Amino acid sequence: MSVEVTHFINGAVTPGGDRHADIMNPAEGNACGTVALAGADTVRVAVDAAAAAFPAWRDTPPARRATILFEYKQRLEANFDRIATLITREHGKTLGDARGELRRGIEVVDYACGAPQLLKGEFSKNSGPAIDTWTEHQPLGVVAGITPFNFPAMVPMWMFPMAIACGNTFVLKPSEKDPSAAIELARLFSEAGLPDGVFNVVNGEAAAVNALLAEPRVQAVSFVGSTPVAEHIYRTAAANGKRVQALGGAKNCAVVMPDADIDNAASALVGAAYGSCGERCMAISVAICVGDETADALVSSIGEKLDQLVIGDGMEEGVAMGPLITAEHLARVRGYVETGVGEGATLVADGRETVPDGLRGYFLGGCLFDHVTPGMTIFKEEIFGPVLCVMRAANLDQAMQWIDNHAYGNGTCVFTRDGETARRFTDRIQVGMVGVNVPLPVPVASHSFGGWKRSLFGDLYAYGPDAVRFYTRTKTITQRWPDARTREAANFEFPSNQ
Ligand code: NAD
Repeated sequence: MSVEVTHFINGAVTPGGDRHADIMNPAEGNACGTVALAGADTVRVAVDAAAAAFPAWRDTPPARRATILFEYKQRLEANFDRIATLITREHGKTLGDARGELRRGIEVVDYACGAPQLLKGEFSKNSGPAIDTWTEHQPLGVVAGITPFNFPAMVPMWMFPMAIACGNTFVLKPSEKDPSAAIELARLFSEAGLPDGVFNVVNGEAAAVNALLAEPRVQAVSFVGSTPVAEHIYRTAAANGKRVQALGGAKNCAVVMPDADIDNAASALVGAAYGSCGERCMAISVAICVGDETADALVSSIGEKLDQLVIGDGMEEGVAMGPLITAEHLARVRGYVETGVGEGATLVADGRETVPDGLRGYFLGGCLFDHVTPGMTIFKEEIFGPVLCVMRAANLDQAMQWIDNHAYGNGTCVFTRDGETARRFTDRIQVGMVGVNVPLPVPVASHSFGGWKRSLFGDLYAYGPDAVRFYTRTKTITQRWPDARTREAANFEFPSNQ
């Protein structure tokens, strides 16, 4: 089945224009459809629709917005497996993994249903003599989201349900590599009663993104993707006077202490390193073991589990790991494996040789490096593939120093049975999201998601309470109703309550 994915503007699927790209099925290694690539004209039409829809949506009571969000949730549930299948076909991740990302996206819709509570503001009676003060959270206007290929449903859902619940209208530019899910998310929202133009999707590449960044009516930009692009988005959007949050790449290290349950830690790490073929911004790609004994035991246990790893088409039952996203990305990841060998790391498991016969897509088996050191490229750079590096630290301080000195600071975790170790680690480590015996500490929807250092450009995290702050501007109103019978003299002193 071949699909033709275009745009969703002003409540309807709209034609695509001239430029198209193939959408690949990464398990089969062939095209499964085409995607339209928007230029500046299409972006302008989408922003026109969002700008026209804003005044009425801004004035729609939050409780009414919540009613539409509740209805949207029902429709997402009713179409759950169909959307998961779209994700797997274009991304390659297993169906179970696709269901997991969609579930986490729906949890943001659940949270956004609390719009009346989230937006109710603050009030102080008698903040001065017969003066009342309140603070409101007002929507910004048209806001844009630009999202990566690796979570084609969840990452857009980190953004648009919250932005829309807050009274904004939204233009989403999803990844051109797996665009079908986003169109489906927009269509279902529209069917749930969302007014036309409140949520628009334009497909495309850098040209569409740059048109959004240059568009004066776009008030704020949320971006998730690689660090070089995040930095470009942050600089350009900020230079154009927009509010911006740009979440970038990652290199997430787990510290394994000698007192940890090594076999359980190995199971957790195999899931966190090789799940979704390592194409998660929260994937664990480095295990720093404290002590050689810990490292020897962990490497042996992970090696055994890797032998059992079932690789194949994510649509098939029992498959644990699907393909990488494109042929180019496969070549890039294989290049990193070669670099690691060249730089002297020990390749304990070589996934280049463990891909089962008969798979024509972009497959790579699980790779495991031991004796990786801080100067090696495979430690310093994000690989974004099924490659786990084991490092050997003398003690917890050295492990933490390697993590703190790293350019990225998205996620990390520590495996230990010792509370003091866990407390010191969580308190001091220079990383935005931290797990204790939790390898993928992705915050639930009522908290916010983000990294430190070169993993996030901007001040506020995605979804949760930070999203209300990002997608609204604060207005503080001070009100007084003077007694008309009293004559008042001018006051030249700065007013205060003293
Ligand atoms: P990417 O940066 O290549 O693309 C992200 C988006 O930016 C896409 O919509 C793409 O079309 C657009 N884009 C690409 N190049 C551009 C350019 N030069 N100018 C303007 N726009 C451009 O990222 P990707 O390969 O789709 O996703 C993988 C990356 O995303 C990894 O680095 C991963 O760590 C990161 N990621 C981070 C998080 C997080 O929360 N920090 C979450 C998911 C993914």
